[in-house]
Amino acid sequence: MLIPAAQYLTYAEAVQLYNELLAAEINSLVKTCGPPSFPFGDGIWYQLLIEEADADAARELVVHFEAQRTSLTVLRCPRCGAPDPQLLARPGFWRRLYYAGTTLYRCAGCGRNFSA
Ligand SMILES: [Zn+2]
Repeated sequence: MLIPAAQYLTYAEAVQLYNELLAAEINSLVKTCGPPSFPFGDGIWYQLLIEEADADAARELVVHFEAQRTSLTVLRCPRCGAPDPQLLARPGFWRRLYYAGTTLYRCAGCGRNFSA
């Protein structure tokens, strides 16, 4: 049975983890996840699936990868942790005042607006 080893990866992260697992002789399957992207309908993020039998062997690698991942400068939603929020193009007037000096983003996963 296939189980997810890591989810909500950007394409670059998925490739990196795939290669790290492969180096440890663990085969993984990369699939998209998250809300569908336009116009292809695939998820906008990636997940890595591994055989359940490989889970123990992969755990240490994945834990290390996750720790490294949080130190990457990928902006993440403070609510759901999804990467790559979209720039909020034209925030309303009161928001421009409230968030003056920061950049507004909108999470594609949960729709939350936040500044960074
Ligand atoms: Zn979110």
